[in-house]
Amino acid sequence: MTRRVVITGGGSGIGLTIARRYLDEGAQVAICDNDPDLVKTVSKYYKVAISFCADVSDSNQMVAFHQHIMDEFGGVDIMYANAGVGGPAGSVDIIDHQEWKRCVEVNLFGAFHSASWASRIMKLQKTGCIIFTSSVSGLFGVPNRSPYVAAKWGIVGLTKSMAMELGDYGVRVNAICPGAVSGPRMEKVLSIESDASGLTQDELRKVYSEGTAMRSFVSEDDVADMAVFLASDKASMITGQAIAVDGYTERTV
Ligand code: NAD
Repeated sequence: MTRRVVITGGGSGIGLTIARRYLDEGAQVAICDNDPDLVKTVSKYYKVAISFCADVSDSNQMVAFHQHIMDEFGGVDIMYANAGVGGPAGSVDIIDHQEWKRCVEVNLFGAFHSASWASRIMKLQKTGCIIFTSSVSGLFGVPNRSPYVAAKWGIVGLTKSMAMELGDYGVRVNAICPGAVSGPRMEKVLSIESDASGLTQDELRKVYSEGTAMRSFVSEDDVADMAVFLASDKASMITGQAIAVDGYTERTV
């Protein structure tokens, strides 16, 4: 049977890379993204069944997205709750409270919302797989990045709790924790962290790559490989895990 795959934040980066993998194998793919230009580009250049503009932190918009999926697909086999933003940088005493809240709303509540919907459908189906994109920031403390780090640790807690709730229904739940992924998003993160830490972007780039055992950034394809594996039958006994794809982080900034 053709697999039905739903990916949030599928307009670029890791989400789009995963979408392309599933399109290549003939799956039905639905993506959402809050950037209308990316949504248009994806529907123009890729054979996705649904390319929908929605903000994962907005319940009404997500309900509309989920309804559209049910109308078109009638269910969901693989849910990638992937959308995320880097959020503000700064120490907890001075960081802007509204920006802090917004970062957690997108990264954690947004992930919860899609996973909650998918779990209702998958419980009835008695099968399915939910994957979150957490981060190595969900495994360590990172100075000046508290909202992002708190949200990504929150995703790990959500993963483990949902895995316990859903195992009896044949539904698996895991989180991928990517290290620094080379690409435009990482360049943005280096720029905001540079302002907050006083280190240059080149110094930070070095800290990120030299701070791993593999002395390297990871690629979107490295993360997509893990995502495809976790959703496959080969991973049928893997659930409740937060799995790093990071070249092994030895130290953070
Ligand atoms: P990206 O910016 O290329 O992709 C994120 C996508 O999510 C974008 O298309 C963006 O428009 C969309 N998005 C942002 N806010 C949204 C919202 N409120 N509603 C819907 N869509 C929204 O970056 P990426 O690296 O592909 O990030 C994907 C995930 O990986 C994120 O959760 C991110 O935190 C996580 N991650 C990234 C890195 C990295 O180094 N790039 C490392 C660890 C974890």
